[in-house]
Amino acid sequence: MNASQLRGYLEFYQDLGFQTLYRRPRTEAAAIETAPPEETPAVPEEVTVSQPLPDLAPSGDSLFRIVEDIGDCRRCRLHEARTKIVFGVGNEKAPLVFVGEGPGADEDAQGIPFVGRAGQLLTQMIEGTAQKEGIPLQRDEVYICNVVKCRPPGNRTPEPDEMEICGQFLYRQLSTIKPKAICALGGTAARALTGHKEGVTKMRGKWFQWRDIPVMVTYHPSYLLRPYNQSAKREAWEDLKRVLHFVYD
Ligand code: URA
Repeated sequence: MNASQLRGYLEFYQDLGFQTLYRRPRTEAAAIETAPPEETPAVPEEVTVSQPLPDLAPSGDSLFRIVEDIGDCRRCRLHEARTKIVFGVGNEKAPLVFVGEGPGADEDAQGIPFVGRAGQLLTQMIEGTAQKEGIPLQRDEVYICNVVKCRPPGNRTPEPDEMEICGQFLYRQLSTIKPKAICALGGTAARALTGHKEGVTKMRGKWFQWRDIPVMVTYHPSYLLRPYNQSAKREAWEDLKRVLHFVYD
């Protein structure tokens, strides 16, 4: 690996929110690099399902290890049109995790979740609500990720098989972070985390559970950007207030 590849690698992990990287001791690294390559059968490019999914929650799991396991993922068709895999961003020990649906165009270009218009609204919602409630909180103190890590073409809703494959990595992220609460943004995240099939209007404002972690469902910020959904904005603010007080009081 040359210096510029190394810089790109480090910037990628920095974008994901990593502050510290573990460096293998030189001798161990050298031993691994010089080990003879293992014999692997040639796999045709188009057989995308052949990449096995790692254990659901390997012992000693970490965000770093999940990123490594995702690798240059081709496990589902979403890899075909993606620019960057959008893993997640923020505090890896956050007591609160926001889960969206999947990256849009801006996120696909930058490799960071919620950086477009919906992302700006989400930042305002988090920081503005917290400030009004007397809770000192910045966006980078929570963790933000999506159900699927690659942009669905035309921002369509992810298909069930895409959610199932990528969901394994989301579940590992959540198991690793172990937040005090999760906020599901929109119906896709709500369904992926709770298994309930109702629409978001029915589920919002209520507590559900993912494993033993409380999940508050609220509207997706993209929905709130539509001018005719202004009353939903007030409800989303109410939902957020409940989560913030639950986590930070
Ligand atoms: N919408 C999402 O669900 N996630 C993003 O990261 C951006 C927009």
